[in-house]
Amino acid sequence: MNQRVAQGQINMHDKEQSFEITVNNKKCRKCSYCIQICPAKAIKFYKDQVTIISERCIMCGSCITECPQHALNYKSGLQQVIDFIENKEKTIACIDPAFPAILDFWTPNQFVTVLKKIGFTEVWEGAFGAELISQAYRKILNEEMQKPLISSFCPVIVFYIQKYLPQLIENLVPIVSPMIAIGRIARAIKGSDWKFIYIIPCLAQIKEMTSPEVAGAVDRVITFKDLRRLLKEELEKKENYPETPFDGPKPFLGRVISVIGGLYRSTGSQFDILMDDITVTYGHKRTIGSLNQLATGYINARFFDFLFCHGCVDGPFIDRDLSVIARRQKVVRYAKQEMEKQDVLSVITELDKFEFIDLKRDFLNMEQKLPVPTEEQIRAILKKIDKLPPSKNLDCRACGYASCREKAIAVAQGIADEEYCLPYLLEQSKKIYKELEKSHRELQMSHQALEQAQAQLIRTEKLASIGQLAAGVAHEINNPLGTIMIYAHLLLKNLDKDNPMREDVELIISEANRAKEIVQGLLSFARETKLKPGPVNVNDLLEDVLGLVVNQSLFHNIRIEKKIDEELPTIVADETKLKQVFLNIILNAAQAMEGNGRLIITTTKDKKYIKIRIQDTGPGIPPEVMANLFSPFFTTKEKGTGLGLAISYGIIERHKGKIDVETELGKGTVFTICLPLDANEEEIGIK
Ligand code: ADP
Ligand code: MG
Repeated sequence: MNQRVAQGQINMHDKEQSFEITVNNKKCRKCSYCIQICPAKAIKFYKDQVTIISERCIMCGSCITECPQHALNYKSGLQQVIDFIENKEKTIACIDPAFPAILDFWTPNQFVTVLKKIGFTEVWEGAFGAELISQAYRKILNEEMQKPLISSFCPVIVFYIQKYLPQLIENLVPIVSPMIAIGRIARAIKGSDWKFIYIIPCLAQIKEMTSPEVAGAVDRVITFKDLRRLLKEELEKKENYPETPFDGPKPFLGRVISVIGGLYRSTGSQFDILMDDITVTYGHKRTIGSLNQLATGYINARFFDFLFCHGCVDGPFIDRDLSVIARRQKVVRYAKQEMEKQDVLSVITELDKFEFIDLKRDFLNMEQKLPVPTEEQIRAILKKIDKLPPSKNLDCRACGYASCREKAIAVAQGIADEEYCLPYLLEQSKKIYKELEKSHRELQMSHQALEQAQAQLIRTEKLASIGQLAAGVAHEINNPLGTIMIYAHLLLKNLDKDNPMREDVELIISEANRAKEIVQGLLSFARETKLKPGPVNVNDLLEDVLGLVVNQSLFHNIRIEKKIDEELPTIVADETKLKQVFLNIILNAAQAMEGNGRLIITTTKDKKYIKIRIQDTGPGIPPEVMANLFSPFFTTKEKGTGLGLAISYGIIERHKGKIDVETELGKGTVFTICLPLDANEEEIGIK
């Protein structure tokens, strides 16, 4: 039977260990660092969510280990391993050759005791897989070569080539990784009822395990991080256990495969600086750069050993408390110490035993291509995020891309969010803040306007109801008052000039006249009299009013200042009524100043209104008076009627105008009257 097919069939009844990198978007702070460090453009940032594009991912694990928020994780196979142990399955824990780097308290053979104590049936050294494949490499390297060869030892490099440089697939050494090699040995010598668990510092091997070209050799892969969780209690106890030898086939030089150059060294070759056709390259920037140069034919050699990390001793899930050099030394010292105990002949015999293991593999083309956007598309995106002209490109990398242009390309390819550009967002938030501030101000203003309108409405309603009552009373009083006047005049006529009664009758007449005035005021307040609209020049009208008062003694010590807008247009209004308003306000001002002070009269206009300001330097209006200022019959004067402002208010309102008061105690008061520019006769006339 074909060995590879047989191995592939084994254990397929088990549920496969699926591979997945997950993002906890609640933990994620959208710093874009993962996008920046991902060598495969496999991270998408869209609609405020970070997602891994699994087809593009090369499983290097950088995003998981580097995320400052620890928001990324991988789906671990640990629980299934625990289940195997709990179900008393026969298990082999096969530990990656990098393992001495993670031991601080236990010796390697005490470590075997610990692993067996927690329930593994056997503990193997993964290095024997390396032993086997390095022999296969040696054969290939000694053959006549048609093309440069790339080691297929590091699964991250293999995935990168399969996905992004498929033209280099034919350069990959067609040999399985040490993990698959030893997995196949375990299958061959233990049979299908044993569970073979590989424990590694790498992430990509979880995915490699299920790759169709090599699937079936390994049951579960767990990382050193998983192992730490599994050994938590033992690690805390730190008990000094006896030593137990490893099970499984004994490796030799393969133990150094996890350090840089280990693969080449374990083929039995020695490094020589003058040998430039064998190269070892490590670290993701260097390897990816070199691979791309190799693909374009820029560099050439017989054999390229590419390692994504600084060797497996620097894999993503290794403890980083020790430096990489210290880790390397631990691995090498362990290898040397063990090799000293071994005789080479027994090693060769061991290797010969497994000659039948098929170490070949092939590599699927898994090419990943993103659409190439047109120059127009790129420019449109750059423009949208305010990055045109190019002088506006900051290339700040906050979005995770090396330049604004790269970011625009990623947006066009649908893997980046165009709005997620820090300088752009800052600019936007400044704009939004300004707009919010503006609308807040407008809202406050409209709130004030609303309050004023409400107060005005209440005032108007109150005045209207008082007005109705007043009108009724005025009508009733008017007739008897007329009779009183007529009879008082008749009486006066019939009295002799020296009749002492004359004075009394004259008092009756003057008081009746006063009563008549009040009634007139009441009627006027109650809008009983109709407006007689006509063209009015407010400046002239004010002159007339001032002409009426200036000669009164009350005004003798008042300085009148006029700031008149000569261009004031003529408006449609009831001249007599307006005169009454201004007269009243001017008189009030003069009375408030008790004949001493300044009276400043200003006329201006804006788009809608003519404004007349009448300012005095009187005592100002106290709040309790302010509250009743426009109420009919409210007066603080001994002989006042309290109707002046109530009537004025009504008149201005009927002209569709406004009357406002500003006052400051001790400084004075300003009455401002606004009269609409566009009022037409009908509008005013019908009221
Ligand atoms: P009257 O003048 O008959 O008192 P008004 O309606 O004209 O009635 O005025 C009502 C009240 O408003 C006045 O009694 C006075 O207390 C107050 N008042 C009006 N104008 C002024 C002003 N310029 N300065 C101070 N108080 C004022
Ligand atoms: Mg008055």
